[in-house]
Amino acid sequence: MSLPLPVPRPQPEETSSEAPISIEERRCNRCGSCLKLACGSIADVGGEALVIDEATCTGCGLCVQLCRGRAIGPALRLVG
Ligand code: SF4
Ligand code: SF4
Repeated sequence: MSLPLPVPRPQPEETSSEAPISIEERRCNRCGSCLKLACGSIADVGGEALVIDEATCTGCGLCVQLCRGRAIGPALRLVG
């Protein structure tokens, strides 16, 4: 099976969501699917956790759709 090609990070005017996106660590099984997007806003921190840079994330939702573990979503969802 071939890997998907890297997807350029969309520009802000192409996005549909203004909510910051975060990865809920306890739901992440580290399958690596989101990293295959090659989005510059998703980073593997020391091989221990995946994080999304909310300062550069455009909220395009591509990683949310890819994550079968539903570990990625709007940051506000994770509050409380
Ligand atoms: S796609 Fe989801 S479960 Fe897989 S590594 Fe990324 S955040 Fe974790
Ligand atoms: S929503 Fe996901 S794929 Fe889209 S810019 Fe943010 S981190 Fe990257």
